[in-house]
Amino acid sequence: MPEGDTVWRAARGLHTALAGAELTRTDFRVPRFATTDLSGRSVEEVVSRGKHLLIRVAPGPGEGEGWSIHSHLKMEGLWHVYGRGERWRRPAFKARAVLETADKQAVGFELGILRVFPRSGEEEAVGYLGPDLLGPDWDAAEALRRLASVPERPLGLALLDQRNLAGIGNVYRCELCFLAGIHPLTPIQDVPDLERIVDLSKRLLEANKARSRRITTGLAGRDPLWVYNREKRGCLRCGTKVVHELVGDTELELRDLYYCPHCQPALG
Ligand SMILES: [Zn+2]
Repeated sequence: MPEGDTVWRAARGLHTALAGAELTRTDFRVPRFATTDLSGRSVEEVVSRGKHLLIRVAPGPGEGEGWSIHSHLKMEGLWHVYGRGERWRRPAFKARAVLETADKQAVGFELGILRVFPRSGEEEAVGYLGPDLLGPDWDAAEALRRLASVPERPLGLALLDQRNLAGIGNVYRCELCFLAGIHPLTPIQDVPDLERIVDLSKRLLEANKARSRRITTGLAGRDPLWVYNREKRGCLRCGTKVVHELVGDTELELRDLYYCPHCQPALG
């Protein structure tokens, strides 16, 4: 499942492939942008903002500002880079964006969000995000302030809220609560050392950003995670049956939550 580390890696791969090159053809396969054409313009850079990806394209002749191609991978999305003429490793009907240069082809499959807008639209698209765990402007104090601003909110929900800090997905929020020894439904105000959890978030994502496989246990083998998706095998530390629940702020936002009732006891 794509989290901040996955998107950081995708941005880096796209930047290496596209930055500095002119787009010879663009094809956006979503109705709203089906007629949008950015060919003839060059790609300036590709960056991630939390779990969002921005491909920044230079202005064409007579255009006052450049463009941004904004995508979000959601659950299944991914970007592939191919040499020209190379066979795609995903079916074509799943492609949502195709960007071609003289020698490369970048294809976005099953993107949860795909939008194209003038550069000044970035603020509206991603400006609401909290400090980016893998961004050059990461600000731990600001992330802490935002998390603490709603003291009654459960830790496990607050960590997933990209307005607090950007980049944590479902796997990391479960593993972070485990590593902190805290029941995920503990209100923020009862979490003894929130600063340590923010610091741990940063270290976990940094440690994993260049890896294709997410590891929170230090074990690269068959047990890379402590509790996530381990309801059949038990907690990696103590073997207790892992609890699996669907939890969210609203019924529409229910997400899988995993925790060990022994290592992460509920308060009271
Ligand atoms: Zn345990």
